Amino acid sequence: MLDPLNDPLKSRFGEPAKFLPVVFILGQIGFLWFVYMFYHCLPQLQHDSFASFNKAWTEIVLFNCASVMLLVCYAKSIFAHPGTIPDREEVGHSEWEYVPQEIRNRSADALGLSIQETKKSGERRHCKWCAKYKPDRCHHCRVCRMCILKMDHHCPWIYNCVGFGNHKYFFLLLLYAVITTHIIIWTMSETLKTSVDAKTPFLQMFLLLFGETLASFLGLLSTLFFCFHIWLMLKSMTTIEFCEKSMKRTGYDSSAYDRGFYGNIRTVLGENPLFWLLPVCPPLGDGLAFSSFEDTPLRLSCDMEAGSKSEKKPKNQSRKRTGAAGTGECTGSDASGQDSESAEEKAPEAKAGGSGGLRIL
Ligand SMILES: [Zn+2]
Ligand SMILES: [Zn+2]
Repeated sequence: MLDPLNDPLKSRFGEPAKFLPVVFILGQIGFLWFVYMFYHCLPQLQHDSFASFNKAWTEIVLFNCASVMLLVCYAKSIFAHPGTIPDREEVGHSEWEYVPQEIRNRSADALGLSIQETKKSGERRHCKWCAKYKPDRCHHCRVCRMCILKMDHHCPWIYNCVGFGNHKYFFLLLLYAVITTHIIIWTMSETLKTSVDAKTPFLQMFLLLFGETLASFLGLLSTLFFCFHIWLMLKSMTTIEFCEKSMKRTGYDSSAYDRGFYGNIRTVLGENPLFWLLPVCPPLGDGLAFSSFEDTPLRLSCDMEAGSKSEKKPKNQSRKRTGAAGTGECTGSDASGQDSESAEEKAPEAKAGGSGGLRIL
């Protein structure tokens, strides 16, 4: 059986020019590593002072550990497939194949699926480019030319989408970018000051100043971006869902996928807290359904009609809802919002408002 997260046929690297941003980022990482190691750490090792020697080794170890983690997370963000909708050939996944004439009679209920996001008409969302029904939180990416599971956003700096399969790696990439840049900012500033005071060669002074400025710039950007992603994670939202809520001017406290503080972290960083900060053990699940964990029921602040539809669902369905059954729209969704599925057909790229109105079936 093909694994949609690792299918080489779905490789996204058909355009080498799109690797240029990746090369640019690697160049910056390499430059900062060179300046920090050769113009800050190594000169300290040559000091006679024992304290200076110890400080230098501590900084070298911490900085290189963070740099290795940064590079591993960067590589995994690039090469891990964000996840796409399974093909018909994949055993057990024919339910996502879109067949136009069957729209009316192939409802999600009939297939035993638990779909929360539908079009206003109640039909399942589908992608006309991929000819497949879209699972919840899935959006089409024009750059990757495929639907991405739990799509967060397309990131040109990793030549990849951030989706279900690599969300954890991207999150940790931001974390280690913040750590690495802050190590440089707060420890190299002293060396920079000294170099300005003393009779330091111009090149050395220039490289230290440029390195410090670059690290400060990248540090500020990555810190702000990382804080935003921590907030998104705790709210159980993707960037696209955040934009949807911004456009509809609804609150940010009504995510249908909210599982509480601890549950929301686990859905991004994985089940075991011991591995949360390591680029291993991604979260459980297949990225096709987000309501299958019995121990972390969904929090739905929705208008529910007790059990009216759940009773109609087959008892042995594979992805059973553990939260509320019933119908109605989330208080956080806009019932009068445009049918963005049709808007999406005009502009295929995933964008704010790219999914249909959020409805609870
Ligand atoms: Zn698509
Ligand atoms: Zn993409």
